[in-house]
Amino acid sequence: MADYLISGGTGYVPEDGLSAQQLFSIGDGLTYNDFLILPGFIDFTSDEVDLTSALTRKITLKTPLISSPMDTVTESAMAIAMALMGGIGIIHHNCTPEFQANEVRKVKVLRFEQGFITDPVVMSPRQTVGDVFEAKVRHGFSGIPVTETGKMGSKLVGIVTSRDIDFLSEKDRGKPLEEAMTKREELVVAPAGVTLKEANDILQRSKKGKLPIVNNNDELVAIIARTDLKKNRDYPLASKDSRKQLLCGAAIGTREDDKYRLDLLVQAGVDVVVLDSSQGNSVYQINMINYIKHKHPELQVVGGNVVTAAQAKNLIDAGVDALRVGMGCGSICITQEVMACGRPQGTSVYKVAEYARRFGVPVIADGGIQTVGHVVKALSLGASTVMMGSLLAATTEAPGEYFFSDGVRLKKYRGMGSLDAMEKSTSSQKRYFSEGDNVKVAQGVSGSVQDKGSIHKFVPYLIAGIQHGCQDIGAKSLSVLRSMMYSGELKFEKRTMSAQVEGGVHGLHSYEKRLY
Ligand code: GDP
Ligand code: GDP
Ligand code: 5GP
Repeated sequence: MADYLISGGTGYVPEDGLSAQQLFSIGDGLTYNDFLILPGFIDFTSDEVDLTSALTRKITLKTPLISSPMDTVTESAMAIAMALMGGIGIIHHNCTPEFQANEVRKVKVLRFEQGFITDPVVMSPRQTVGDVFEAKVRHGFSGIPVTETGKMGSKLVGIVTSRDIDFLSEKDRGKPLEEAMTKREELVVAPAGVTLKEANDILQRSKKGKLPIVNNNDELVAIIARTDLKKNRDYPLASKDSRKQLLCGAAIGTREDDKYRLDLLVQAGVDVVVLDSSQGNSVYQINMINYIKHKHPELQVVGGNVVTAAQAKNLIDAGVDALRVGMGCGSICITQEVMACGRPQGTSVYKVAEYARRFGVPVIADGGIQTVGHVVKALSLGASTVMMGSLLAATTEAPGEYFFSDGVRLKKYRGMGSLDAMEKSTSSQKRYFSEGDNVKVAQGVSGSVQDKGSIHKFVPYLIAGIQHGCQDIGAKSLSVLRSMMYSGELKFEKRTMSAQVEGGVHGLHSYEKRLY
């Protein structure tokens, strides 16, 4: 490679820093703390940075963040909050299949938002107030347009909403809607062809809850609900499927009885399953991938965990849609200590991602994320998304109650391979034990984490932090970041021990560290 690159203007700039390939060819296993990224050129604002990234072959997220399938991190409340922020939650399986499927269902039933509702419930003027009461019970809404025939495509004659029937009682059930509705002459409508943005403006001005859309003949073609526009504004990044339901993942094991669990999860509408194993390169996992791909070809399957290209190869050959990378790097994890197996996470992510990208398989960097800078580093080494346990633990949305210890507000956080978690149910034993094991060997610990407040405040901080990191690097999107890394344009440098000390707060008598 040339020693000097022409940069135009004032002339030559010496080559500086290491490409990722050079950084990882040194041979030592590197953690996120062992290197830094050299800054690039900024010609955009940080809020312009696009964090869209692939979760699996078929699912894309607007925020590259995933909550871990751990019983102190992800149940429905966390999964809903993560999906609203543009990420996704993976419901843990240290519980019965029925409980887990029900948590998935709680995420999926939220009809998050619609744009134009083109098949709304419509009634005729001769239908009754009782019919609206029934619609309210059956569908959960009572904003109903009224047309001549009671069908779409017929002339709009009025609208009936909750406010029109709130004070009516059982004796009014038989009252026809033409007496209860607001009539056509008084309605604010929009013409067919109106954009969502224009419709939004009209709804804001009219201050009504529904906007009927009519064609030139005044026939009803769609409606728009104000609640939907509000949700759209509040959560522009939300992760949704084609039916506008929030995305949700769930973890399963690779035993025979996990097939029953899988069926319940699929019935509940799960979008992606994560095969939860600390060493994923096994005949059990390959068989399970084959089984799922055969039985539920549309379901996205994440395999893992892996830390080498050789492990990844077998799972890619079996047909996984994404790989989960990390062994022994989790904050609660003692695998490397006990099993003597594992790999520093920076190296794992780079090596697996560099291999898997040739097959279009995205990589999830799982575990060891302590700061937002670690997220940026994982993404700059080729990970498409990042999975977090401890960083999201002790938020309002994490399962479990807060408690106080020495005046500090805490929530419990424990490894799924800790004795504490394994004593709760058999499913996490399966992740960390073989069939005939008599003696339990723990691979994790149980502890606590300080209160972090709500995910609705914390994730926006993470998003803004990642955007600022990308801005310093000079990458306007995560796909630019990855291509800069693979082209060698992105430069890294190893950090000595003293460089790490220098990079932290130092030399102060005391300080307070507030992050956002
Ligand atoms: P309402 O005021 O009781 O009608 O309820 P909201 O407008 O607050 O909420 C209705 C929700 O149901 C919105 O998210 C709509 O997108 C959704 N929805 C789905 N299908 C229909 C439909 O056929 N009619 C109406 N009114 N809402 C629907
Ligand atoms: P709600 O809050 O769910 O009851 O729904 P809205 O805010 O849509 O409706 C409030 C009242 O206004 C009801 O009596 C509706 O029938 C009536 N209404 C709905 N749309 C219009 C409209 O475009 N013009 C007028 N004048 N009234 C409307
Ligand atoms: P953290 O974000 O806390 O550093 O790591 C979370 C990750 O650690 C999880 O996503 C999972 O892969 C891994 N993990 C969870 N529980 C255990 C455990 O008990 N032992 C080990 N070895 N890893 C665990």
